[in-house]
Amino acid sequence: MTLALHGGTPVRTAPWPSWPPPIDEAQWELVTAVLESGRWGATQGGSVCAELAEAFARRSGVPYGVAVGNATLGLFAALRGLGVGPGDEVIVPAYTFVASATAVLLAGAVPVIADVDPADLHLSARTTEAAVTGRTAAIMPVHLAGSPADMDPLNAFAARHGLAVIEDAAQAHGATYRNRPIGGLGDAGVYSFQASKAMTAGEGGLIVCRDEIVYEAVWSACNVGRLRGGTWYGHPGVGWNLRLTEIQAALLLPWLDHRLDAEIDRRNAFATALERELGHLGDAVTVVPRPPGTTRDSRHLLMLRLRTPVGRSFLLRAMAAEGVPLDAGYPPLGTLPALTEAGARAEPCPAADAAAGDVVWVRQPMLMDDPANAAGVAEALAKVLTEGRQA
Ligand SMILES: *Cc1c(COP(=O)(O)O)cnc(C)c1O
Repeated sequence: MTLALHGGTPVRTAPWPSWPPPIDEAQWELVTAVLESGRWGATQGGSVCAELAEAFARRSGVPYGVAVGNATLGLFAALRGLGVGPGDEVIVPAYTFVASATAVLLAGAVPVIADVDPADLHLSARTTEAAVTGRTAAIMPVHLAGSPADMDPLNAFAARHGLAVIEDAAQAHGATYRNRPIGGLGDAGVYSFQASKAMTAGEGGLIVCRDEIVYEAVWSACNVGRLRGGTWYGHPGVGWNLRLTEIQAALLLPWLDHRLDAEIDRRNAFATALERELGHLGDAVTVVPRPPGTTRDSRHLLMLRLRTPVGRSFLLRAMAAEGVPLDAGYPPLGTLPALTEAGARAEPCPAADAAAGDVVWVRQPMLMDDPANAAGVAEALAKVLTEGRQA
């Protein structure tokens, strides 16, 4: 079996599902209704952003939600709403998207980059403990890849130290932890609707929270410092226009009603099938385990750990040639010079460093394929590992 990289026949030639999937009837209807109404922004009296915020709050098990332009701004607004700012430190995991840290910089606080658990790659109470100082004001667990961080010990740790907890739920719409929805487990939770996420309007974000005072502060931060119910040109707080458009909300609201759960089930079916197939490869490729307490994984990504003499960059090139493109994943945040130059502090992060070398991702569009095609992914991996060892 010659590798496709060396002129052989690729294992897979059919295209993978594209993302996002085609929009459905309910989305067309609501988007059209909003367009025809002329109320494209929430300040014109439209109600779809508010409905979306309410629906997300309900699904997160909390009373309040605020729709925003994207999750980076959502994390920023959540930090503002919780009173985190200059002089404060916020602990973020080393293995996450860069926005978890840059949102902290936007709030004028110091991102402290903590290591992740070596097995499940999430922030844990243990790795958080190593990074805490007298200036720590908040922690930001990330529900990485759609599996929730182990929130009970993190919340207990935060309570002991008097820290706010902001869940970065950008990758985990619909996930549950010990049968409780994520997003509402900390003081605030933030979802993303950017193009690669499980629900998308191209861009977008949403903040949920439990406490009314936090809600008022977050809302004000997103609405030019206005007071809810106050006068238009009264700005008792400092705030910005961070709002989502009604048109975006109209794409998202029906998705939440009709599609999200079915799509999560579909991705999980593919991931389960792939994990079974990978069993034939022994230790060489294994699924990165979830943190304790995951009761529903929204499967934004499937992370795989390689234990093989075949180099990862060769493997990624060879897999792409076989028609099965995988992803190298994140560099540890502490290795990004721009972050440390901007004031971030990085703890030693051996587990994130290791993950940056031997973890690869199966991305969401591939997980949306027919689970029967998981066998082809395993077959391509087996081929590349066997032939690559001889190459
Ligand atoms: C996508 C993502 C963000 C940022 O979301 P945007 O909506 O693009 O600003 C933040 N954190 C994580 C973990 C993400 O995956």
